[in-house]
Amino acid sequence: MARRPLLAGNWKMHKTASEATKLVQQLAYSYDDAYAGVDVVVCPPFTALRSAQVTLDFDTSSPIRIGAQDVFWEPSGAYTGAISAAMLRDVACRFCIVGHSERRMYFHETDEDVARKAAALIGEGIAPILCCGETIETRESGRTLAFVTAQIKAALSLLSASDAEPVVVAYEPVWAIGTGRTPTPEQADEVCAAIRDTYRELYGVAAGEALRILYGGSMNVGNVDAFRAMPNIDGGLVGGASLKAEDFMALVKAFS
Ligand code: PEP
Repeated sequence: MARRPLLAGNWKMHKTASEATKLVQQLAYSYDDAYAGVDVVVCPPFTALRSAQVTLDFDTSSPIRIGAQDVFWEPSGAYTGAISAAMLRDVACRFCIVGHSERRMYFHETDEDVARKAAALIGEGIAPILCCGETIETRESGRTLAFVTAQIKAALSLLSASDAEPVVVAYEPVWAIGTGRTPTPEQADEVCAAIRDTYRELYGVAAGEALRILYGGSMNVGNVDAFRAMPNIDGGLVGGASLKAEDFMALVKAFS
C-alpha cells in the first residue's frame, strides 16, 4: 500500500516569533509543486505558532501545515504554564509531537502521560506524532524491539481503532537525536516493522498497512535517501536539519 510521506520539522526551543515568520516564509517560497505528494509540517515553539500560521495563511496556496511540540491533556483549568489541545486547534495546529525523548528526559513524562496527551489531541481533531525510541543501553542489551513496542502499546492504550487512524509514529533512537550518529537504515526499518506489526495486532491489518512511521535522529541530506528506501519508513521527524529552509526542503524533495 502506498502511504503518503510526511516530513515534520521539530524546531525545539529555537526561533522567536519573528524568526519563525522568516523561516516559514523561506519554506513557503522554496516549496515546489513537485512536493505535492508529501505532507510537510513545521512544529515551532508555542510562542511562534500564531505567527507561523498567519504567515502561511497569507500565502493561501501553501500546503505546509503547523504542528505543536507538546500539549497538556486537561481541557482547561488551573494548570499554570500548560496548553490544551483546544488551544492548539485554535491556532490551526493539525499535528502535535508527543512523547519526545527530550520531554521524557527533562520533564519526566511517562508512557501514561503520553497516552493521555494522545487521547486529548484526538478529541480535538489533531494528529499526534507519537515518539518512541530506545537508549543506547537498551539497544546494546538487545531489548530494543520489546522496549519500543511496549512504549507504543502504552501510548495507544486509550485509543480505539477509529481514534487511532490519524496517529503518526516517529521512531527516534534516543542516542541518534542531535548526535550525528544513526542506526543503519536496516536497523531502523527493523524497529519500524515491529511498530507496524504492533499496530496490526491492536487495530487490524488495514490499520497497520496505513500507519505512517517516521524515522528521526540526525536525518540529513547525506543520509535521507538510504532511510527513504526502507519499506517501513514513510518520512522523517527532523530536528537540526529543519532549522534551515534549504536543508529541510532537500529532505522534503528526497521523499517526493
Ligand atoms: C528530533 O528532535 O526529533 C530530532 C530527530 O533531532 P535531530 O534531527 O537534530 O537529531
